[in-house]
Amino acid sequence: MYGNGNFNNMLNAYCITIGDELLQGFTIDTNSAWIAQTLIPCNIELKQKITIGDNIEDIKSSIESAISRQYDYIFVTGGLGPTHDDITKEAVKQIFDTEYVLDKDYLNDLEKKFHKRGLKMPANNKSQAMILDKADSIPNQNGTALGMRFVNGKSQLFVMPGVPREMKTMVEKEIIPKYINCENVNNITTIKTTGVFESKLAEILNEDIRDLKDTCSFAFLPHYTGVSIRLKKCENYNGRLDTIVNSVFSKLSPFAYGINEDTLSEVVSKKLIQQKMTIATAESCTGGLIAKMFTDIPGSSSFFLGGVVSYSNELKQSMVNVSEELIESHGAVSEQVAIAMAMGIRENTGANIGIGTTGISGPSGGTAEKPIGLVYISVVTPTQEIVKKFNMIPSRKEHREMTANTAINMVRKIIHE
Ligand code: AMP
Ligand code: MG
Repeated sequence: MYGNGNFNNMLNAYCITIGDELLQGFTIDTNSAWIAQTLIPCNIELKQKITIGDNIEDIKSSIESAISRQYDYIFVTGGLGPTHDDITKEAVKQIFDTEYVLDKDYLNDLEKKFHKRGLKMPANNKSQAMILDKADSIPNQNGTALGMRFVNGKSQLFVMPGVPREMKTMVEKEIIPKYINCENVNNITTIKTTGVFESKLAEILNEDIRDLKDTCSFAFLPHYTGVSIRLKKCENYNGRLDTIVNSVFSKLSPFAYGINEDTLSEVVSKKLIQQKMTIATAESCTGGLIAKMFTDIPGSSSFFLGGVVSYSNELKQSMVNVSEELIESHGAVSEQVAIAMAMGIRENTGANIGIGTTGISGPSGGTAEKPIGLVYISVVTPTQEIVKKFNMIPSRKEHREMTANTAINMVRKIIHE
């Protein structure tokens, strides 16, 4: 068995991504990031990565250099297609001084695959059935290019196609189960927070960061909709990370809402479903983004009744019952109108909770009194009418995302009480 599940013996990896389009910036290299993240729970740490163009000498020298450094794992992606610029197979053939052999069974499979789709296999694809006799072939469930595995000393080298979907399935379904002893130790966890500055979180966790310095490291990862805190177990600590995560999570209450892949809208949705509550939205500046975030969740029909984008003053009146006088006396972007929108959508839909948003996302439309970035968010429930004023980032996209996120977070706080 390859690999070593002992946490104290972290294994290292190197990643080489190949393709002119990656170097030129037309395609962003997501493969290496995905490989790095996926291998952390297997105790494998990506130490370095490099991107190489479609040039055989460069590919050879980068792979040779990685092999000479005897990384436990070397992952190469790209350049396995059937076209002239796909030269990775030729590069590893030369490095390992090996020969092409025709895999007749695979050629048959390929021809059948094309035949099933009513197509004749292009002659170029035959090259994909030529395998290298010193490599183990790795099946590709989503494409035609086989992957390859070579062993050199303590290093295992995996060569995979560049198409992310093909590469991911190969790693998950073939490489990890067959060649990596992944015990899935929980050595890294991300706690997600929102509605709080990074500096405040650092203040809350100041003592923990100091006291736990030999146990786990803390990384603060700010984003405009919240701050993630990544806890990573230290190499010499043998205890469980879960207990530390739980204690840090409760210290960060009420800002912490989830861990790892959790999203704010999912967390809130679960709670709404549990409490058998329904919600509806009247959105102005967010333009339907809150409704989108709720309806992105499978099963949202059980709590999300619907929403309107009441953008113009007329629609604020006709769709969510905001009175003309209210708009005239306070302006469309006002505390009063935000509450009236939330109340109006609640009344009109019969939802338990109504949300109203009205603000100035920019870049035009700001005044000295009501600058770009200003927003009012209201959440109305059977027992509470809440409205809050914020000055978000004065940039249209971020303003909308921050407003939608904040509105959903206001709902979270209400239903958690
Ligand atoms: P290739 O295996 O070199 O034929 O790559 C096929 C396609 O996969 C390319 O056109 C890219 O769009 C995509 N691709 C290749 N390498 C990467 C990478 N490192 N990250 C994301 N996409 C990639
Ligand atoms: Mg390529």
